Amino acid sequence: MREFDLINRFFRRPSPYASGVDVGIGDDGAVLSASPGMDTIVVTDTSVEGVHFRSDQSPHAIGYRALAVNLSDIAAMGALPRWATLNLTLPHADPEWLSAFADGFFELADQWAVTLVGGDTTRGPLTMTVTVGGEVARGASLLRSGARVGDMILVSGPLGGAAAALECSNQANLERVLQYPTPRLMLGQSLLGVATSAIDISDGFLADLQHILDQSGNLGANIDASNLPLFDAAVQSLGREKALDLALRGGDDYELCFTVPPEKLPLMKQLKSDVDSSPICVGKVVSKGGCRVHGIGDRYERSGQGYQHEW
Ligand code: ADP
Ligand code: MG
Repeated sequence: MREFDLINRFFRRPSPYASGVDVGIGDDGAVLSASPGMDTIVVTDTSVEGVHFRSDQSPHAIGYRALAVNLSDIAAMGALPRWATLNLTLPHADPEWLSAFADGFFELADQWAVTLVGGDTTRGPLTMTVTVGGEVARGASLLRSGARVGDMILVSGPLGGAAAALECSNQANLERVLQYPTPRLMLGQSLLGVATSAIDISDGFLADLQHILDQSGNLGANIDASNLPLFDAAVQSLGREKALDLALRGGDDYELCFTVPPEKLPLMKQLKSDVDSSPICVGKVVSKGGCRVHGIGDRYERSGQGYQHEW
């Protein structure tokens, strides 16, 4: 299959919601117009076979996830996505694989009115880089750097599911968390003007929270482990201690972690009916640096690059 045929057959789709896209796939560049009064947010993420997904995963899930991890970054900025580019490196052009991959990608793109405006197609080891552009009201983006002492720390949903799926491969609902992460875009929107900082959890809760603490001026956190939301399936298959460890340190959850001043916490409770997730308060920002985890008899404390039990 020639490159042009491949692009036209699988990736060029009519887009009913292409406002702001003046020229999409087919020219040397896409022509996009920004909405007045909005900032443009650009995020990008690469997925490599054997690193970010397994070769036995369905191409539908691989396509879905390649976009989902980018939309998660857009959500963490409090933005709404508008357009995407797709750089695809393929060992060979298998029409069945490409069709299912594109269906997975566009299933999520259509859900959020994202227009695929361009990309590149090359031959090589299976890899895809997706770039997404989104918009947020000028100056309103949620950053990692705004947390303050006394803020409450919340997460948007249960943690450790993706890591648990790797440990016990027979759990369908954990496998779904790993293969089809849900970008928390509705929640991100509702955090504008409420949260002081936000990040999406891709590297593990403690590691990503640490970015907020570091970038907000070397602050610290007290975490109450008994409040951390876990997956029942993970607790049942692996035991509570292991499930908790995966929730603290496992990656690929793609829930949001964010900070909210205590006086705004009631706003979080009102959220629950209209947003696709139920944020849970798991701790508090403090001035003493380091992340302390209480509540299961032992404590974790940051030590150098990693996290260790502190008895
Ligand atoms: P150029 O040689 O100018 O880089 P290409 O021949 O690579 O252009 O691509 C032709 C058009 O198809 C461009 O508009 C490009 O953005 C788009 N395109 C290429 N690969 C993809 C892809 N995998 N998904 C979406 N659009 C693509
Ligand atoms: Mg090219």
